[in-house]
Amino acid sequence: MTRRLSAIILCCILAVLPLTAQKRKNSAPDPKEKGLASISETTARAIVGFLASDELEGRESGLNGANVAGRYIASCLQMMGVQPLLPEGYFQEFSACAPERQVKGRFEVHRDSIAKLQQGLHRRINLRNVLAMIPGEHSDEYVVVGAHFDHLGTDRMLEGDKIYNGADDNASGVSAVLQIAKAFVESGKKPLRNIIFAFWDGEERGLLGSKHFTLECPFIGQIKAYLNFDMIGGNNRPEDPQYMVFFHTAAVPAFGRWLRSDIERYGLRLHPDCRSWDNPVSGSDNASFARCGIPILWYHTDAHPNYHKPGDHAEGLNWDKLTEITKASYLNAWNMANMEIFE
Ligand SMILES: [Zn+2]
Repeated sequence: MTRRLSAIILCCILAVLPLTAQKRKNSAPDPKEKGLASISETTARAIVGFLASDELEGRESGLNGANVAGRYIASCLQMMGVQPLLPEGYFQEFSACAPERQVKGRFEVHRDSIAKLQQGLHRRINLRNVLAMIPGEHSDEYVVVGAHFDHLGTDRMLEGDKIYNGADDNASGVSAVLQIAKAFVESGKKPLRNIIFAFWDGEERGLLGSKHFTLECPFIGQIKAYLNFDMIGGNNRPEDPQYMVFFHTAAVPAFGRWLRSDIERYGLRLHPDCRSWDNPVSGSDNASFARCGIPILWYHTDAHPNYHKPGDHAEGLNWDKLTEITKASYLNAWNMANMEIFE
């Protein structure tokens, strides 16, 4: 009788044990997964809806629409509790110059090029990047997550719709960077490395914001990796709505492995076309970092009929894909920020 009672008690304890463990797990979720759970389609729609609205007039660099977009991004970061990177605040102000418009020549941000251009008749625009940072345990190591927020503006002479809303290009990418910043805050865990969240101005005029940042950055040699977004809501293959392109520096095969394993582990609805690239110096702001020898990752959903057209509206986006890419890239950023080494 006594032995039987002990057996029953033992059975009860064994039955309760996994429950207790389960309960403990439920009360303290994994920080990475806690952050992941904060990423939503609703937030993506809210951010893109504002940035791609007609009121922002196509967010052309140097004009009111782009300035309002930058101000909005800074306010979002402030609301999340993500601190500015620079002591003066969220904005990194800079200028770009080009020859007067009848002379061939691009906008330049390098000090020497500007000094040379200023000797003649020239054009000048004032721009500003928005930069924020979550400090890490290793204060001398950085990773950067970025997307450009500017677009092509308006064309008054265009027949019909005159506003280049740039929902995919690149309000979609900005929504991802903001959601990733929020996810790191929600995780409640201090990362190993400092994570910079960068929103570039002047990409459409020649990667001006990212060029300026990499030229002026005093800790450029301490940046371990750069994660870029440019157009992640496109639907260029309606027959394969989960299709996306993932570029990464070939010398770091870990980037491709991370994505494949996270898609499997978290059941993400994505069909990545992984393209490793020896010298990723074209396309988007990734180029500015690749030129400095920094490994890059770049999420993209390829060109589509509304690419650089006034028809790039929020209604045309593939919201499920945009949200799944945001989740996948947050998981990449988590590894970039927290893995001791990656190669
Ligand atoms: Zn773009």
